[in-house]
Amino acid sequence: MEDQVIVGLEVHCQLDTKSKLFCGCSTDYRSDGPNTHVCPVCLGLPGAMPVINRRAIEFAMRVAKALNCSVLEESEFSRKNYFYPDLDKAYQITQYDKPLAEGGYLEIEGDEGGERKIRLTRIHVEEDPGRLVHMGNAERGKYSLVDYNRAGIPLIEIVSEPDMRSPREARKFLNKLRATLEYLSVFDSEKEGSLRVDANISIRGSERVEVKNITSYKGVEKALLFEITRQKNLLRRGQKVDRETRHFLEARGVTQSARSKEQEHDYRYFPEPDLRPLRVRSWLENIVLPELPDARRERFIAQYGCSLNHARTLTGELKLANFFEQVVKADPKRLSTLASTWIADTLIGELNYRGMSLDRVEPAAITGLLEILEKGLITDKSGIEVLRVMLDQRLKNESCEPPAAIVARLNLGKTTGDTGAITTAIEEAINENPRALEDYRAGKGGAINFLVGQVMKKTRGKADPGELNRLLTESLKNKGV
Ligand SMILES: [Zn+2]
Repeated sequence: MEDQVIVGLEVHCQLDTKSKLFCGCSTDYRSDGPNTHVCPVCLGLPGAMPVINRRAIEFAMRVAKALNCSVLEESEFSRKNYFYPDLDKAYQITQYDKPLAEGGYLEIEGDEGGERKIRLTRIHVEEDPGRLVHMGNAERGKYSLVDYNRAGIPLIEIVSEPDMRSPREARKFLNKLRATLEYLSVFDSEKEGSLRVDANISIRGSERVEVKNITSYKGVEKALLFEITRQKNLLRRGQKVDRETRHFLEARGVTQSARSKEQEHDYRYFPEPDLRPLRVRSWLENIVLPELPDARRERFIAQYGCSLNHARTLTGELKLANFFEQVVKADPKRLSTLASTWIADTLIGELNYRGMSLDRVEPAAITGLLEILEKGLITDKSGIEVLRVMLDQRLKNESCEPPAAIVARLNLGKTTGDTGAITTAIEEAINENPRALEDYRAGKGGAINFLVGQVMKKTRGKADPGELNRLLTESLKNKGV
């Protein structure tokens, strides 16, 4: 029997509030110098008192409601004590035995198709520690600098049950979670370091390994793939997997045993004496959730006739879903079928190829291109050419030519009506490829496709495929084939 892989995730997300969790310092620190967003509270100076940021708790409650969790009647902040230079107070204010919420679930598309519920254990609120900047290499560098700008940024930690069965499912869980948090307007996935993941992974029947502090979405899948191979190899050789904590070295794509093994009791948790318990369950009824990814996916299928796969892709990111609706806004009936294919398949592919963000593309430009395609003025192949020109212009920060101007400049208009050019190309193709003609006579189906390809090449992809097929068949018939 195939070894069963068991994965659980602990996801830390920065809540996108304006100020920190327990003080008024601004969270907009990324472009500022080190230690410029600090005060006695987030530096943990003696006598400073924390005050809870109401907005951060509201954000966390939105998440709890959207993920179907039950909010505890009373939750509590605790101090988690440990010494590390990024932790100025030598304790982190977090939640321990009374978290904000427990239970709940998130639905993902399972590896075997269909929706799968990944159960959640809990959601709790905590503060981010500061950040160490290692000068040189983390292992052999001469010294490290510490920046407390991040200290006190509100985080939620979402802990899943060990319900995922593959690295792919883990990636889908993270993508779905990211989309949900973005739809809730509590999280900005584009901010560097706004999401960090610890992954628990085991092969059924063996010890579990925790991989700490993975900082990218792709990193999670890579770290899990590495760990599965490592653990399976150990078991195959008759060795056992140690229960341990490992770090993921992103640049090398490997995990490495962490030297120290902290255990729960080492943290000496105790209730935070400077904060009262939270009693916020009654807030739930006043939280009105926006349309979430699943609902929007179903609406895209019903309203725009998108296929399930296209609807999944398009609603999998808030920005992309908004972009799609912008593009088809003018005439959904006419444009939505074309738009879903062109955005979900072609545009995303071309953007990824260029490492380009969707922000750089004007929805109106795509609408313009789709209108030309919809009227049948250019072929799909020419459409891709126009799209590429548009994206390359945006990438170079040149002013973007309207799609119709690109079609005219590159002379990409379909040769519809101008059957002369196609007929000439067909004649040439048949004369130059007597073998294909033989094959066609012998009833080989591939021959006609080959001839179509030849004619397409000669007309530089401008021939309308329907018309080309008709003219080619006609021409072969005239030749008595
Ligand atoms: Zn502060």
